[in-house]
Amino acid sequence: MPLLPPLIPHLKSPDLFGDLDRLPALGTSVGERTFVVLNPSTGEVLAELPDMGVEETRAAIDKAYMAQPGWAALTARERSDILWRWHQLIVDHTDDLGAILTAEMGKPLAEAKSEISHAAAYLQWYAEEANRIYGETISAPSTDRRMLVIKQPIGVVGTITPWNFPASMVARKISPALAAGCTIVLKPAEQTPLVAGAMFALAHQAGFPDGVVNLVYASEGDAVGRELCGNPKVRKISFTGSTEVGRLLMRQCSDQIKKVSLELGGNAPFIVFDDADADVDAAVDGAIQAKFRNAGQTCVSANRLYVQSGVHDEFVDKFVKRVRQLQVGDGFDPAVAIGPLIDQHALAKIESHIADAVEKGGIVRCGGNRIGTRGTFFQPTVLTGISSEMTVAQEETFGPLAAIINFDDADQVVHEANDTIYGLAAYFYASNLKRVWRVAEALEYGMVGINTGRMSSEAAPFGGVKQSGIGREGSRHGLEDYLEMKYLCMGGI
Ligand code: NAP
Repeated sequence: MPLLPPLIPHLKSPDLFGDLDRLPALGTSVGERTFVVLNPSTGEVLAELPDMGVEETRAAIDKAYMAQPGWAALTARERSDILWRWHQLIVDHTDDLGAILTAEMGKPLAEAKSEISHAAAYLQWYAEEANRIYGETISAPSTDRRMLVIKQPIGVVGTITPWNFPASMVARKISPALAAGCTIVLKPAEQTPLVAGAMFALAHQAGFPDGVVNLVYASEGDAVGRELCGNPKVRKISFTGSTEVGRLLMRQCSDQIKKVSLELGGNAPFIVFDDADADVDAAVDGAIQAKFRNAGQTCVSANRLYVQSGVHDEFVDKFVKRVRQLQVGDGFDPAVAIGPLIDQHALAKIESHIADAVEKGGIVRCGGNRIGTRGTFFQPTVLTGISSEMTVAQEETFGPLAAIINFDDADQVVHEANDTIYGLAAYFYASNLKRVWRVAEALEYGMVGINTGRMSSEAAPFGGVKQSGIGREGSRHGLEDYLEMKYLCMGGI
């Protein structure tokens, strides 16, 4: 298969992609079709990869199915040891994996390396958790019985990941699955398959038995998705991406009552209360992190910034000043804080949100425009005078656009924050203890950041309520999503 050698600048180990030439060894055979991967900062072609479809997906599922009983039969310690080796290889290759990520996704190199460390942290966490799968015994209601519960791996898991965190999403899904004794077939996003490929090449070096981890590259997710959902050998689908695609996959899984874990879209509120000793500087710091990390392209990005009237003007002044300082450009430039958006659709979406807000009375305080014609860069933008009927307040923008809403009533703001179909992440800044508890409990979200703009951690359960998803990733709870509970009842004792 003619693979264009990936044109990643600054690679220390260009042979990292060596194993990609031997894709069948990673679990699949490949056909004749190919697709290209672009650098969003330059528009240049980075690599050409085999474009796989139903046939290759089925072959990968067959391999995973054959390998699963053997993988599950290993001791927890043996599975853990291989995960540890993979973790170490990823740590050792952080610089190169970060460079690949920046080249194909655009995020600044420091952010990309931090994502690789985060991915490695999931592998470490689940290498440890692999040894901590417990069942239970139950006090039986009669003396001649013994009742207990054992935990077993679900089986083959189909996983589909998005482009915005193309390394950590892979690790966050497949490390608990592997720790539990499941085997996996992964389809990474079309725009960012290279870092997943490099991670799989390292998995191969770590010594996973043949067929345990399988990679399917595809330019169109739907055919692969239909096979993963429709093939009875796959017992679970784990998906991170948009709510729209999550809904479709859930529908496709319903015929076989297939289990699903879904990490979907959000519309995160970020609320700043004007408590007596409000720390506006800290709130500005948190808002910069929660809004502009990864150019606003995170599922937990602050989408609606509610600022109480007592601190509104001070917050806006300080925030706009900080946003003007954010440098936009190629992620390989160390001065750059904001890289390109992933593609032209993302640019068009942010422009439409700004146009709609301005038409309805919103004010552009800074930014508002594309930058240049090479690459997909957009100025970090702040809008004030936002109200709930504007699109920007209702939909996830997924870009570097902060929409600020001035509010007075503390109870009303929680009601407005909850007035969405989404329920992934929410943030608020407050110092009054009673308010902190009341608001934290009233927000209808899976995760709430209190006086912080950043909360993702391998040690914590990440996930949403309402139409933001089903299940949790990370923490001990993340392992449970890949285990079945079996009740054993022993009679005649
Ligand atoms: P997306 O369009 O849903 O794509 C995500 C993945 O699904 C990609 O691998 C894509 O493949 C695949 N896909 C697309 N259509 C499919 C179909 N019909 N059947 C099967 N697979 C299909 O989402 P995105 O635009 O890449 O990612 C952004 C969204 O993800 C945002 O809404 C964000 O909030 C959400 N997200 C959520 C979390 C979380 O943990 N909750 C984390 C990160 C992102 P192709 O690339 O080949 O189309």
